[in-house]
Amino acid sequence: MDFILNFYTGLNKKLIAHVSNVQDTCYCFVVQPLSIRTFFVSKLTMKGLWLENNQLHLRTDIPIPQPPHGEALVRVLRAGVCNTDLELLRGYYPYAGILGHEFVGVVEQGPEHLMNQRVVGEINAVCGRCRFCRSGQPTHCENRTVLGIVNRHGAFAEYLCLPIENLHLVPDNVPTEVATFTEPLAAALEIQQQVALGADDRVLVVGDGKLGQLVAQTIALTGCELLVVGRHREKLANLEARDIKTGLVDSVTDRYFDISVECTGNPEGFAIARRALRSRGTLILKSTYAGNLNLDASSLVVDEITLIGSRCGPFAAALEVLAKEQVDVQPLIHARYPLTEGIAAFEHAQNRGVLKVLLEIG
Ligand SMILES: [Zn+2]
Ligand SMILES: [Zn+2]
Repeated sequence: MDFILNFYTGLNKKLIAHVSNVQDTCYCFVVQPLSIRTFFVSKLTMKGLWLENNQLHLRTDIPIPQPPHGEALVRVLRAGVCNTDLELLRGYYPYAGILGHEFVGVVEQGPEHLMNQRVVGEINAVCGRCRFCRSGQPTHCENRTVLGIVNRHGAFAEYLCLPIENLHLVPDNVPTEVATFTEPLAAALEIQQQVALGADDRVLVVGDGKLGQLVAQTIALTGCELLVVGRHREKLANLEARDIKTGLVDSVTDRYFDISVECTGNPEGFAIARRALRSRGTLILKSTYAGNLNLDASSLVVDEITLIGSRCGPFAAALEVLAKEQVDVQPLIHARYPLTEGIAAFEHAQNRGVLKVLLEIG
């Protein structure tokens, strides 16, 4: 275990000593104790859930990151396990490092206005120079890193770094646990950035899982004619309690809907969403698929169906929805684990029917 000793001299100058603890013996490499008054010990390493070769490990020896220029150091308070994390663990995408991208934390190093404030963070760290960045589409930056997904350590650790521009203050009236849903809620709201929904639209949401629940609650805010179908009566009951019409998957009328949103990530869900659409309808794909999807491409041509892929969305809008309590995320929380029991948290999250599992970190 490594520590930094910060020594304060009588002249209020800080001298830093690097100390290695080897078999209970401390060795100081650089010490210049000039009229030392006080000192404290701060950790150099942290705990985190580390993914490598499809294996998840709880590590206690991860160096605490030092934020590069333009980035902030965030101490993580809570984080949520998402299907993407489970897919990374199964090896669907190549990634090695700390997992996690849904989080709330407190800024410990950064600009004055963010210091010691609760924040959430957009997950794409972008270059600002490529054609997508220049045209106002930073989530598609050609050079992006993505928190806990692509070339950037994630949130299932005591600390993380993100560009300052990615961080958003959490409104005071939004509890920390609730704010961990900002990222998936923003993803749900992306649909409304892509398609205008109004009272005359007939909209079907397929899937009653984590994402389906958030998509359904946000679409319900538009006042459209909405039906949500799934396989779990107890999950659909969450939505019924909010006056959202639900049904089991066999209750869908074919060729009735203007827009269908596929939130299951399985071919069966896709087929239901496709069949439900009228000619010239719009099919929004909100989930990724484990393998290739078979579809009747000719029927898409004949019916002139629009297919829309949908991913990351607006954080500011998501925080506003949470601050106004327009959605209820509490029924989605099925379990809470400390970071030290992160492996068990992942095992729990992989069980069928389990919605959000949260990690309590700081
Ligand atoms: Zn996610
Ligand atoms: Zn870029």
